[in-house]
Amino acid sequence: MLALAYELEQLLAKISGMDFVSLQPQAGAQSELTALLVFKAYHAKRGEAGQRRRIIVPDSAHGTNPASAAMCGYQVTTVNSDARGIVDLDALKAALGPDVAGFMLTNPNTIGLFEERVREVCAAVHDVGGLVYGDGANMNALLGIARPGDLGFDCVHINVHKTFSTPHGAGGPGAGPLCVKASLRPFLPKPWIVREADGSYHYDTAREDREPDAVGESIGTIKQRLGNFGVLVRAYTYMRTLGEEGLVETARDAILAANYLLALLREAYDVAYDRSCMHEFVLSARRQKQQGVSALDVAKALIDEGFHPPTVYFPLIVPEALMIEPTETETKETLDAFAAAMLRIAERARTDPASVHDAPTKAPLRRLDEVAAARKPVLRWKRPS
Ligand SMILES: *Cc1c(COP(=O)(O)O)cnc(C)c1O
Repeated sequence: MLALAYELEQLLAKISGMDFVSLQPQAGAQSELTALLVFKAYHAKRGEAGQRRRIIVPDSAHGTNPASAAMCGYQVTTVNSDARGIVDLDALKAALGPDVAGFMLTNPNTIGLFEERVREVCAAVHDVGGLVYGDGANMNALLGIARPGDLGFDCVHINVHKTFSTPHGAGGPGAGPLCVKASLRPFLPKPWIVREADGSYHYDTAREDREPDAVGESIGTIKQRLGNFGVLVRAYTYMRTLGEEGLVETARDAILAANYLLALLREAYDVAYDRSCMHEFVLSARRQKQQGVSALDVAKALIDEGFHPPTVYFPLIVPEALMIEPTETETKETLDAFAAAMLRIAERARTDPASVHDAPTKAPLRRLDEVAAARKPVLRWKRPS
C-alpha cells in the first residue's frame, strides 16, 4: 500500500509539475483548507502571518474556495472576471497588496476557459509576496498538455475522484491530493511516506513518536493516513493502464467532446462566453427563461430524455447556467443523442413551454421538494409500509 501511494505521489508530482505531494486531503475542499493552512505556516515562518490577512478569489470560483479561506480565518476579496470570462488582471493588481496571503485560481476556470494570462497573474501575486493556489479540479483538460507548476502556481490540488476514473458526481468518497513546490514542503501534513535505499517503504512516524518536535513545521495531520485508499488505487490503476500517451489522449478527447457539443448547441442556447472551450462549457438558458422555461426545467426535462442533467446555476456569474462536461469517455453517438435531446427541449421551450414544467414525468420520482429535503432530510432508509 505504501509503495503504491508513494508511486502515486511521484506520478501526481510529474503531472502537476510540482515537487512534493500529500495524499492526505480527502476532497478538493479539504485540500484547499490544507493548502491555506500551509500558506499560513509559510507566512508565519517569515514573520508575516499577522500582516497577511486576505485571500483573493475570482468571482467565477467554486464556492469551496472562499469558504475554505474563511474557515482558515482569512478575509476574502473577490475580483471580477473580464468580458472574456477570465481574471481581470487590472482588477487583480488593484486588489493586491502587502496584506495578501494568496490568490486562488482555477485553470481552466469554471467556465471552461483557459486563463490566458496565468503567468502574469502568478507573477503579480508573487510580486507582493503572496502565494498562488491552483484549484486543479479541472485537470482533465491539462493532462500531459500543461502543468500548473510550469505556469507559476505554488501548489495545486488534484481531484482524483474527478480526473482519474472515479465517476464524476458519484457522490461517494473522494481524494484531493495536494501537490506543492519545494518551498512549501516543510509545512505539508505528516506523516510522510519515505522510501529507503533498500526499496522498502514506511511512514516517518517512528521518529515523531520519539521526538514530537521532529514534526517541525508541518501543519499536522489533516486526515488519518491514506483515507479513502480505494479511490487512490483506482487513480493509480487508471494512470498506469493509460500510460503517458493515454493520459494526453484523455485530455484531448475531453476537450474535443466539449467543443463538438458546444458547436451543436450554440445556436439553440446562449453561450456564456462564446470561444473555443476546454473540457467543459457553460450555456445560459436565459432565452428559454424568457419563454417560460428555466435552467432547472431544462435539467428536469433531460431526465425524461434519459440523461443525467448537468450542473445548473453554477458558475454564479452566468444567469440560468448549464455547465456541460461530456468527459473523454462518451461516444459520438451519445454526444449526438444528448445534443438532440437539448435541441428538442429548446424547441419545446419555444413552442409549448408549459409542457416542460411537469418534467420529469417518466422518472420514478417527480420533482422533489428541495426546501423540505434541505430542512427535513430523511437520512435513514425505512421499509415502505
Ligand atoms: C469539485 C470542485 C471543488 C471541490 O472539490 P470536492 O472534492 O467536491 O470538495 C473545488 N473547485 C472546483 C473548481 C471544483 O469543480
